[in-house]
Amino acid sequence: MASLFTHAYAALSGAAVLDGRGDRARLLALSAFASVVPDADVLGFRFGVAYGDLWGHRGLTHSLAFAVLLGLALVRLGFPRERAFTPSWWRLWAWFAAITASHGAFDALTDGGLGVAFLSPFDPTRWFAPWRPVLVSPIGVANFFTAYGARVLRSEVLWIWLPWTLGLGLVAAVRRAVRGRARSAREAPLREPR
Ligand SMILES: [Zn+2]
Repeated sequence: MASLFTHAYAALSGAAVLDGRGDRARLLALSAFASVVPDADVLGFRFGVAYGDLWGHRGLTHSLAFAVLLGLALVRLGFPRERAFTPSWWRLWAWFAAITASHGAFDALTDGGLGVAFLSPFDPTRWFAPWRPVLVSPIGVANFFTAYGARVLRSEVLWIWLPWTLGLGLVAAVRRAVRGRARSAREAPLREPR
């Protein structure tokens, strides 16, 4: 895993930038939930599920199929008033699916454990990114507050937080520019002709 702090940071900062009407607090809470829930699979270790199994760590709950289905469930349960297939419904679904899938993508950047079963349940292959600069996070929050945990967090800030934040800043800037242009196009006919 990358640490839960990093998954949650990505979710909360992304949701804050996300466009949308409706309940912001609910959007933030469900985004954070979607970003960390794939690691619920570590509970399987207690019940004898092996790391490499379908339900093992970084298995099915880290797959793209899981992300798509969880996204659908979160829109359905969290935003029941959204009419299906409207633009804002698609946007919410795409966001929840993307932030759930980002969990596996960040894990694939780490230097330990097994890879991520992105194509589960159709293909059990475990994948890593070709370049893995992030130190793997210890499993369990208590193990995180150690000297090694501090090094993990440093590598995550450098290789995940920074690029992610820059990317979000870029998205926000482009959107502001597009909106500004649309507004001046709308207001142009109201001005006195010169
Ligand atoms: Zn994970």
